[in-house]
Amino acid sequence: MLNEKRDKLIIEALGGCWHEYECTTFPHLKCKKCNRLEIGVVEDGFDVDLSTPDGFFWAWDRAKEKEWWPDFLLYLFEKRYGRSSIWAYRLVCVDDIDLDTFANNLAEFLEGRK
Ligand SMILES: [Zn+2]
Repeated sequence: MLNEKRDKLIIEALGGCWHEYECTTFPHLKCKKCNRLEIGVVEDGFDVDLSTPDGFFWAWDRAKEKEWWPDFLLYLFEKRYGRSSIWAYRLVCVDDIDLDTFANNLAEFLEGRK
């Protein structure tokens, strides 16, 4: 299910645009931030919902390229086991890969980095 506050935080941290469309000449819409063009009725937000497989892989592929990815894996490990480990990056649990759980944990992690 779309979680706007969470998804906006993640998408912007991963270099995506949380689109804000304005009507130019009906039925054309343009994002005020990235100039993406759409036709018809389009809601503000991102192209995909992070709680769907497409959204999950969009976030996963970008997050694992970030310099903070090892810190995020450590964060997941510490959250689950209450302690640190140099092996944390190998031990992330399948439960953390669940679509919504991944997005929730990633948003929490990013919020903590602000
Ligand atoms: Zn945009």
